Amino acid sequence: MTTSTKNPAKKKGPVRTELTGVPASPGFAMGCVFPVTNRNISVVEETLPESRLADEEQLFLKAVNKTIKEVTQIKELSESRAGMKDSLIFATHLMILQDPNLMNGVLDKIRTEHKNARWSVHVVLGAYIDRFEQIDSPAMRDKAADLRDLYNRLMASMEDSGPVLEDVASEEGVILAGHELLPSLLMSIKPGQVSGLAMDTGGRTSHVAILARSLQIPLVSGLRNFAALAKSGDTVIIDGSSGRVVINPNEEDIKEFHTRQEIFERQRRELFTMRQLEPMTRDGKYITLLANIELPSESEKVTDFGATGIGLYRSEFLFFRKDAPSQDEQRDAYRYILETMSPCPVTIRTLDAGGDKLVNGITAVNESNPFMGWRSIRVCLDRQDIFCTQLKALLLANTKGNLRLLLPMISGMAELRRAKACIEKCRKELEAEGHKLGKVKIGAMIEVPAAVMIVDKLAKEVDFFSIGTNDLIQFTLAVDRTNELITDMFQPHHPSVLSMIYQTVRAAHREGIPVAVCGEMSTDPISVLLLVGLGVDELSMTPWNVMSTKKIIRSINFEDVRDSALTVLQMDDAESVNEYMHKKYAQTIKDLGISSVVGQVENRN
Ligand code: PEP
Ligand code: MG
Repeated sequence: MTTSTKNPAKKKGPVRTELTGVPASPGFAMGCVFPVTNRNISVVEETLPESRLADEEQLFLKAVNKTIKEVTQIKELSESRAGMKDSLIFATHLMILQDPNLMNGVLDKIRTEHKNARWSVHVVLGAYIDRFEQIDSPAMRDKAADLRDLYNRLMASMEDSGPVLEDVASEEGVILAGHELLPSLLMSIKPGQVSGLAMDTGGRTSHVAILARSLQIPLVSGLRNFAALAKSGDTVIIDGSSGRVVINPNEEDIKEFHTRQEIFERQRRELFTMRQLEPMTRDGKYITLLANIELPSESEKVTDFGATGIGLYRSEFLFFRKDAPSQDEQRDAYRYILETMSPCPVTIRTLDAGGDKLVNGITAVNESNPFMGWRSIRVCLDRQDIFCTQLKALLLANTKGNLRLLLPMISGMAELRRAKACIEKCRKELEAEGHKLGKVKIGAMIEVPAAVMIVDKLAKEVDFFSIGTNDLIQFTLAVDRTNELITDMFQPHHPSVLSMIYQTVRAAHREGIPVAVCGEMSTDPISVLLLVGLGVDELSMTPWNVMSTKKIIRSINFEDVRDSALTVLQMDDAESVNEYMHKKYAQTIKDLGISSVVGQVENRN
């Protein structure tokens, strides 16, 4: 990734700096930087002179107001999201924050004992927490957890006395920037509140990138030193289609930004004409196009983009909250998607927590290799209380019989059989209670090389495969999908990866089951050609990409891409594959006029 500073600080005023990172979510945004810091909380006791007490009091009161704003924002958001009833937790937080005993306790410490604000909060709130923790009752322990959450928020507010997000919401928009942005942060943003994202770490397949694409917020990741260069309030342009970022842009940059943004909007509008057309190659091969979703509410829109079902609902996003959702809450959320989409198929993946998707109270903290750690199906098989709650919710939600239940991270037959036994056990228990259950298709994700090596056996025991190329590439090439230092080594077109996909397709077709790809390869134009050529039946992607992918599929001949795929399978490395494919197809794709919507083809491998 490169940095260039054009106008040296001869003139007064901000310095224009241009950076290039990974184009992780297409689109254009201009706005002022709102830094997201990883806060470091340490509490020191100070006894202050009289003259500083008013400032400390203000620091505390401001922190309370800021926390009230934050919690209100989260509460409103959770109320507006389908199937989530957790806003009650935030109402409790607001009540605690406004409790006069607590407020007066802290103010008293500052006024009469002359203690600093942070120490006063630490002592007063800490005493409440200790008291609740000592009572042996789940309700009191919950209360202690609420207080701890508030303690952290108040402390963080006092450490970083910068503005809250709502205060900086300017007309030109807000660009959230930080060393690392987490999926849970994006989930707490109100629609329209943030126009762009910039982060120093990560690539295209981190979950924050996937979520940004689904929320349609432009993101450039892997910028390495943006957080150090951009100051709070600096104007910045984000080009999520090419990976370019300009800090303190000049007039020329702003003009170019408006032109490129117009092209982006026009290309998006034009794509809507593709909605009703069939995703069929010129020689008549039909490819099923499905949508990946992260929120139940997204299911309302996917058919507008021309998808004929959902190929992946990442159910772990429902677990990004304080406590795991109950069986009823889960059932309602799943039923909402299944009934909204009926009769189209809906693939719901069971909890794939872990890696970069940390879930409160479920995933382990501080694992040294979290992507290869205690995650996904491993957690579910160890915590069958959580797994069976989810499975029962899924089975009960399937009133229309359109559920495809997808098991993630399968790496062996024993794991698959244990997971299937759990499904069977849950089905029997529910039937014994008198529930009539719809038919369910069970599928395995192919995203671990070990699964590919036994794919013939797996194919005999499931109804479908879905290839998770994000993890399959990561594990095949031993390249961490979130590490910006090795983004160039994350090569979807490496012959080893292509060969794994081909083996999976052949094994599946021998057993007469379909193969989908639900990883991010499905959104890359050149990859789409290769996947179709390798014989993949279904592609599942961010809803927006369905229309551009349809345009690509309608412009090609299956026979031709099949020949190309078989040719590149014999090649030595990803570079040769890319060169061959670009020579043959880059111009055709350029001519389709979708470059700013899908991201520039030249920037990918
Ligand atoms: C994948 O690994 O390709 C996939 C679709 O799952 P996730 O990105 O959630 O790991
Ligand atoms: Mg995966």
